[in-house]
Amino acid sequence: MKRNPDHGERLANPDSKAHIRGVMAYLRREEEAPRCLHCGGEVYGRTDKVFCSQACKDRYHYLQKAESDRYRRRVLMNLQYNYSLLDAILARGEDSRVREDLEELGFKPACITGFRKRRDGHIEYRCFDISYSLSDARIYRICRISAV
Ligand SMILES: [Zn+2]
Repeated sequence: MKRNPDHGERLANPDSKAHIRGVMAYLRREEEAPRCLHCGGEVYGRTDKVFCSQACKDRYHYLQKAESDRYRRRVLMNLQYNYSLLDAILARGEDSRVREDLEELGFKPACITGFRKRRDGHIEYRCFDISYSLSDARIYRICRISAV
């Protein structure tokens, strides 16, 4: 390989284009240095590392799990609340309500335990052992289904 006799000199000269390019490349690497997923600090070591320390890794996973647990608890609470509303309607011998009224009481239509398409084309929703149909205006055909 043919060596460029000026190469070393140009790199050492702070005004040379090669030196400036080297500094820019170094700064770019600094900017692109991987950041810890938890604290955002710089990550040193293997290129596939995503946490700056074991403590950050543990904390990140702890918080992820805590968030997942909170979400699951919230959905379960909504399901239980929906169930208590539907159960109370059935206990009154009724099978239909104005949807808006029920939603004002806290009914969450998106929280269901299942659904199926009926032969008539309507969707039947399930909240545990209670089924119902939804239109824009009403929650209707509320009934307890036999053991699932
Ligand atoms: Zn960190």
